[in-house]
Amino acid sequence: MPTNSAHSEQLSNGRLRSEYYEPIPPNYFAPKPGDEVLNIGIVGAGIAGLATASALLQSGHHVFERSCFANEIGAAINMCPNASRVLSYLEFNFHRARPVTLDEQRLTDGRTLEVRRTQFTPDFKDLYGAPFLLYHRADLHNELKRTATEPRPHTSNVAKIHLSANVVDISLDGEISLYDGTKYMKDVVIVADGISTRFASKVVDSGEDLRIYPTGSMAYRFLVPAEKLMEDPQTRHLFEGEAMKMVISPAGDKRLVWYPCRGGELQNFGFFLPDDIEGFEDEVWSIPASREKFMKASTELHPDLQAVCGKAEDLKLWRLCSRKKPLSKLARGQVVLIGDAAHPMLPHQGQGGAMAIEDAAALGVLLSGVRSKDAIPERLQQFEQLRLKRVAAMVIFSSVGQDEAHRIKDIVRPFVDGPLPSCPAEYHMYNFTPNVLRDAMELLESNQNSARL
Ligand SMILES: Cc1cc2nc3c(=O)[nH]c(=O)nc-3n(C[C@H](O)[C@H](O)[C@H](O)COP(=O)(O)OP(=O)(O)OC[C@H]3O[C@@H](n4cnc5c(N)ncnc54)[C@H](O)[C@@H]3O)c2cc1C
Repeated sequence: MPTNSAHSEQLSNGRLRSEYYEPIPPNYFAPKPGDEVLNIGIVGAGIAGLATASALLQSGHHVFERSCFANEIGAAINMCPNASRVLSYLEFNFHRARPVTLDEQRLTDGRTLEVRRTQFTPDFKDLYGAPFLLYHRADLHNELKRTATEPRPHTSNVAKIHLSANVVDISLDGEISLYDGTKYMKDVVIVADGISTRFASKVVDSGEDLRIYPTGSMAYRFLVPAEKLMEDPQTRHLFEGEAMKMVISPAGDKRLVWYPCRGGELQNFGFFLPDDIEGFEDEVWSIPASREKFMKASTELHPDLQAVCGKAEDLKLWRLCSRKKPLSKLARGQVVLIGDAAHPMLPHQGQGGAMAIEDAAALGVLLSGVRSKDAIPERLQQFEQLRLKRVAAMVIFSSVGQDEAHRIKDIVRPFVDGPLPSCPAEYHMYNFTPNVLRDAMELLESNQNSARL
């Protein structure tokens, strides 16, 4: 597989680095004189909905969110270069969101703490033109909300978010119905209602299975303030030193993974193990956890790691679920699916949120320069054309560990042009290289050119 070298002008996709990663000026895709200003409705204000609201800020639009925004789960999320690149374009305030840059990754034995491998993190900004950053989810979400709802350096337009606005129906011609009977007619309806989507069924062909199935694994998610870990001599040695580390500690059929977030003030933990959750069939992310069962499961870990588990705050259980297959349609009529509603994925590539942000960027470009609203369904088909293979491949890659590529190579083949990645460095290259803004811009231009011929 070709490589991305920091010193090479040519990227692994054959593009010239200076051209492909050249920053696109803010608001580049805002309506120009003669363009239609679209009236857009977004269902759901998670990462996908908020990023899309920011990407389409120049259009008049409303975001409908059924919650009152108090429910972003306490855990961390990593944003890879392919997503950071989009956030930069959206004038996201990185400084305020307080992410952490990773210095090294370690594999340690979860029972003995013996270090099996240490890998220093490459300079991703050098390699891919944008950083790899770790956030507290609430910090990322809050800053995305600000990006959408407060004036940015280069635009004073802001999105209107309706909270406690449960959407109960949508139609393919653009109608959104709320729980209280209010109806809105929109030029485009963007469905970003998450993994348990109610509206993806409007878009996919009948017979396509939208249900999510338990995979047999679950994870306890928790946070511990770094201060608490440093105060205790039993846990201090695991966290001391300047380097920001991601550590993976397998122990039999269990695995403890941790990394810092919120400027290093918090450590984020995921303890992965076989699923033994009883009940909560409809819940995925925030299942109440029994501390007693959690501590019992942690007895397979080294006593110092058990001491870490004993300090867990905000303990939640996450049931790892996925669809049987990636979707074969993302858009129909005036309606388009994005984020987890379109492509829920397991955490093995850390790309679920990143794909939502790429979707947002693609829509921002492909819904620009619209001269007649009749062109909207065609533009949404272009979104499907651009995104379908990329997100299907990511769903499949995410279903197994990065060291298990052989298990999915035949299933993923139809969705990947070029060589298949088969080790972490190759996955990085496959995942991080694309610049969705430029890819969408080029697709739009080439479709416009062929329409003129
Ligand atoms: C524990 C965990 C760790 C993860 N780690 C990573 C990571 O490191 N990197 C990464 O890239 N991804 C990660 N992901 C995946 C990533 O978080 C998701 O892919 C991403 O949050 C999906 O965003 P979304 O906006 O599509 O969905 P959601 O965040 O689920 O948002 C959907 C929104 O729609 C609202 N809604 C639903 N129905 C309605 C309705 N009828 N009317 C109005 N509003 C409605 C919901 O209230 C919600 O706010 C992780 C996921 C989990 C669970």
